[in-house]
Amino acid sequence: SPPPLQFCRGVKDSKRRGFINVALRSVETTLHQLLADVPSWGAEFRNLAQALGAILATDVYAQIDVPPADNSAMDGYALRIDDLVGDRPLPISQRIPAGATGGALQAGTAARIFTGASIPPGADTVIAQEDCELIGELLQVNVTPRTGQHIRPRGQDITRGQLILAKGHRLVAADLGLLASLGIASVQVARRIRVALMSTGDELREPGQALADGQIYNSNRPMLAALIESLGAEVIDIGIVADTPEATRDALKRAAASAEVVISSGGVSVGEEDHVKAEVEALGSLNLWKLAIKPGKPLAYGRVLEVPFFGLPGNPVSGFVTFCLLVRPYLLKMQGATKLLPPQWPARAQFEWPRAGTRQEYLRARVVPGDEGMEVEIHPQQSSGALSSVSWCNALAIIPIGKTLRRGDRVDVIFLQDIS
Ligand code: AMP
Ligand code: MG
Repeated sequence: SPPPLQFCRGVKDSKRRGFINVALRSVETTLHQLLADVPSWGAEFRNLAQALGAILATDVYAQIDVPPADNSAMDGYALRIDDLVGDRPLPISQRIPAGATGGALQAGTAARIFTGASIPPGADTVIAQEDCELIGELLQVNVTPRTGQHIRPRGQDITRGQLILAKGHRLVAADLGLLASLGIASVQVARRIRVALMSTGDELREPGQALADGQIYNSNRPMLAALIESLGAEVIDIGIVADTPEATRDALKRAAASAEVVISSGGVSVGEEDHVKAEVEALGSLNLWKLAIKPGKPLAYGRVLEVPFFGLPGNPVSGFVTFCLLVRPYLLKMQGATKLLPPQWPARAQFEWPRAGTRQEYLRARVVPGDEGMEVEIHPQQSSGALSSVSWCNALAIIPIGKTLRRGDRVDVIFLQDIS
């Protein structure tokens, strides 16, 4: 259960004014508070072909044994081991290709059999075809076999009644194969969440448009949309929103009317050009948090017309990191997922971190195999606006508040593939 909510030991930041809370909040505290506020969400049946990445809404039990019958693991000959006496060859009494079921094995004979074909009643051993030869019509076995060899027994993989996949599990490719092996054609999973995405900023243009002086391209939209979609959610694109109270309020209303969660980027500071805070408060409620996280820091969370709302920082790297660390677990929990947080792995720092920080840092890093395990290097450009570092990295290296590092020290990393 989450620890009681409280502000972390904060560091006052006199350079930026206007935040409601002057104390910085830890990532952990904020995450616990967010996760305690996740609304529940329904389930639906989906065919396996549409189920990749979906989260199971029920436990799944096996209704059959897999494999359903003893079958051959090799192309070869099925026989009774006691029928091999001395070097005496055996006649071949039947032929069983995959998909066919043979008759009971005649005593003192062998059955020609193929991989996946059912073992005929009476046979207890399969001889691989490379371990024997045909002398005319007779089978000569050239090895000393073990009883039961090359037979995959019924239920070897799964036995009927066994729990196969637990509620809350996120389906990967192998799971779809596993479910299919049980004859399951559709599964009950969390319904698809619609997430409305709005990009605030007068300076923004979409790729493909010409840039005038002072303008930049909207990089948050495709990046956040992809992150949202990778969680199995559907993106409702509200587009670019001008930095005016009217445009912001109109966009928020449209967003809340069309989705289960609203996410905006930018405009969550409290300058005159930042209207998200005031307009969300006018339509609902809002916490504007100053997080002890770098990159990141400002994060807004609240409700717009009852719909959960996240206001991410405008800087692309900050938006990426805050989404992956805080919004992702929220959207996963909303879908009933049990695994919400990525594992942290120890690695050896191949860099120095001489200055202790007042916020927990998530450095864009690359983990590479070294002589003594994983080594981690960091991108030279750690600015919260420099997306090339995110594209380059395969992990985030976590530097706790107040910590310095020397080359060779242990540093914990989160792999990007576990959060994006
Ligand atoms: P803001 O939080 O609106 O003050 O934005 C912080 C910084 O992020 C500014 O430099 C913005 O130009 C930039 N920014 C905001 N939104 C986006 C976006 N969608 N794509 C790229 N940069 C953005
Ligand atoms: Mg802005």
